[in-house]
Amino acid sequence: MKILKSYVDGRWHEPATGLVPLIDPSTEEVIAQTSSEGVDFSAVLQCARQRGGPALREMSLAERGTLLKAMSKAMRESRDELLDLSRLNNGTTLADGSFDIDGGGATLAYYAGLARGLEGGALMADGEEVPLSRDGGFWGRHLWVPRHGVAVHINAFNFPVWGFAEKAAAALLAGMPVITKPGTSTALVAQRCVEIIVDAGILPDGALQLICGSTGDLMGQLGPQDVVAFTGSAATATKLRQGEQLIAANCRFNVEADSLNAAVLAPDVESGSPVFEMFLEDIVREVTQKAGQKCTAVRRILSPQSRSADVREALVARLEAVVTGNPADEAVGMGPLASAQQLVDALEGIGELQRDGRLILGSGKRADGVGSPAGRGYFVQPTLLEAADANGATTVHQREVFAPVATLLHYDGGATAAARTMSLAGGTLVTSLYSDDEGWLGEFLDAGASSTGRIYIGSEATIGEGPGSGAAMPQTLHGGPGRAGGGEELGGLVGVQLYMQRVALQGGQGLLRRLTDGSPRGD
Ligand code: NAP
Repeated sequence: MKILKSYVDGRWHEPATGLVPLIDPSTEEVIAQTSSEGVDFSAVLQCARQRGGPALREMSLAERGTLLKAMSKAMRESRDELLDLSRLNNGTTLADGSFDIDGGGATLAYYAGLARGLEGGALMADGEEVPLSRDGGFWGRHLWVPRHGVAVHINAFNFPVWGFAEKAAAALLAGMPVITKPGTSTALVAQRCVEIIVDAGILPDGALQLICGSTGDLMGQLGPQDVVAFTGSAATATKLRQGEQLIAANCRFNVEADSLNAAVLAPDVESGSPVFEMFLEDIVREVTQKAGQKCTAVRRILSPQSRSADVREALVARLEAVVTGNPADEAVGMGPLASAQQLVDALEGIGELQRDGRLILGSGKRADGVGSPAGRGYFVQPTLLEAADANGATTVHQREVFAPVATLLHYDGGATAAARTMSLAGGTLVTSLYSDDEGWLGEFLDAGASSTGRIYIGSEATIGEGPGSGAAMPQTLHGGPGRAGGGEELGGLVGVQLYMQRVALQGGQGLLRRLTDGSPRGD
């Protein structure tokens, strides 16, 4: 049986106790075991703070960028192996595995490219100098400097590679050493990524450590220079936020959590038109990709009453045609949920949603999967519900069912009404709008933009161009207000600044310029 090791304090730690199984969700076979028991978390922190951090801070931003490029290349060279591991442990189809693995590599490559254009040596200036005195002898300028701590990355089970890569890219570029912890149930592919990067000798000693299993007493030892970036459920985020040490040290804590994302069709889009087709295609992808286990998946579909019958009929037909089963079978378009726990939670959730709506597709029960033994595998068929009272459907706006499940809601066609219904979820990661009516779109922004982290607009101009609302692109922000966690990742340099401290420098103009433009000190 394969035992997944943690990479800590410059060596691989093989656990002997506390082992938990990792499972192939298509067959329910145990494929590996892991645990972090026996890891000395004080030594892990010391290694990062005393070796990794100083080594990274010695490098310029551009040099750190070359590390990211090499990480992306090493992962790309092992792409086929990583895709196989993803299928085995995450139950992903080839396309779903690629979304995670290629997405992670592309994000590293994007930040490597961004670093090439950054001037200023190891520091990053923010804006120009501003005069602070009447006679021009006293000036101010803002500067971003790396925090002298450690970046602790806690990731959700659903994006083991992208989650690792997007967080590591920003932290390493900022000059902070990383301790990364994948979700335990799907740690196989993230562990292999770290092994590939370690074997390639890309990073300085202490710059990257991996914890497979629990974080033990790590969180209780964090300090004011450390940063925690968490991705997972709102419930776990709430628990971690209340950690005594995090509060006492005022440790920076970024949260990416749940989200009940909405896709909204505007009344200007005619049934059967190209934008109507795009809306349907996007929804089918955003409901079934990774079996709906995406924080950015569409959970609520808002249709104007005038289009409801057409939307209902088309969605049922298209979702019904998706073949659910073991991704090892080429006919399969959607794999299983990732674990027994996810299956239990999803079926419970579908039951809860039926308080507010009726099932119009799916049984609400576990299904058998094509290419898997009968009775085995954590399969749920694409499931669609419909609620008659859009604003009264409280469960639909509050219960995240992390599975291929969405609810169809109807509104009167007004942008403000749609925005109000969207906002009932208390903060989302993304809202997708389908319209070419600028007046309607502007009204939606006025009423709803503050309740969502990203607005994805599908229109005539974006046909064949937009990647779908579920793709978090490194150039623009990922995160959302309220229930979605309130965090901000990616967004180019914004994501990097999470790991830096902004300092206001005040003094003579020439001196400020020389201190911040990357010139050798003392020249
Ligand atoms: P989860 O149960 O909250 O777990 C998330 C991570 O937290 C896992 O690595 C888990 O480790 C760890 N964890 C749990 N309790 C902890 C504790 N007391 N101390 C330290 N770490 C702890 O969430 P999940 O089931 O993995 O992921 C699904 C959720 O993530 C969904 O709600 C989804 O919406 C959300 N998500 C959000 C985003 C986003 O970007 N906003 C992206 C992906 C997923 P173990 O696995 O070892 O328990």
